[in-house]
Amino acid sequence: MLTQIIRRTIQVSGIVLIIFIPFLSLDFNISDPLTFIGNIFGSGKFYFTLFVSILPLVIITAALGRVYCGWICPMNLIFELNGKIRKILIKIGVKPFNVSFARLNKYALLIVGAALSMILGVQVFSFIYPPIIFNREVIHLIYFGSVGTGAVVLVTIFLFEISISQRAWCRYFCPGGALWSLLGAKRVLNITIDREICDDCGKCNLACEFGLDPMRGRMGMECDNCGKCISKCKPDALKYSMIFPWQKKSIIRRRRHHKEDKELNLASN
Ligand code: SF4
Ligand code: SF4
Repeated sequence: MLTQIIRRTIQVSGIVLIIFIPFLSLDFNISDPLTFIGNIFGSGKFYFTLFVSILPLVIITAALGRVYCGWICPMNLIFELNGKIRKILIKIGVKPFNVSFARLNKYALLIVGAALSMILGVQVFSFIYPPIIFNREVIHLIYFGSVGTGAVVLVTIFLFEISISQRAWCRYFCPGGALWSLLGAKRVLNITIDREICDDCGKCNLACEFGLDPMRGRMGMECDNCGKCISKCKPDALKYSMIFPWQKKSIIRRRRHHKEDKELNLASN
């Protein structure tokens, strides 16, 4: 629960920061790696200062996984509202669809976006990447008192997720989500399960809006370490753990032994 309060506080602070950053004169800049990729492919030029400005988020992601999505992205906070709206709709008797798509779509969009940026000479991602659109629209609103066409993209995604497919954008289509997943594939911060405490109730899987399988420890690089599964779980069955590369082999071996023991117990009962 405390984790979720901290997560919400960070997300809201991020949005407040986006609103006030145009009024602050800061000497440093932190950029999104997708902006860097779009820039390289769109302009064909390497900007060293832009490269330096993506390093903080790249390093954080390499260590902690796809935490940008779960803890920082302003759109995550807004998209997570969809689950609540869908629940209200179900309560009043309107059953929304829940269509699944291939997760690979977002990796394909990352490649197609980079290729299109190169061919067209423009940053294609800035038209489809929700956090960038959100930043732009907020600044537009502050300076011009209105929003641009990007708001239409955001509202379309919002309505699509409510009516057709829950959390579809982040799960299946976001090129940024794909990049964060790849950058955080070898993360040190993981969610681990204690099989002695877990009673297979499945509440963690129901809590996971990304449709992952924390109950069986099958989250992989898609997990954004949001910790919602931990919040729904009994104390210490699921928890955040730092697992360094040299510890991974022994953990896999322990899991395999535990599975074999469980199977033996089942067979003998
Ligand atoms: S997948 Fe994209 S929109 Fe979703 S939280 Fe991550 S960066 Fe934001
Ligand atoms: S497995 Fe847990 S931490 Fe990972 S995305 Fe799902 S709910 Fe969040």
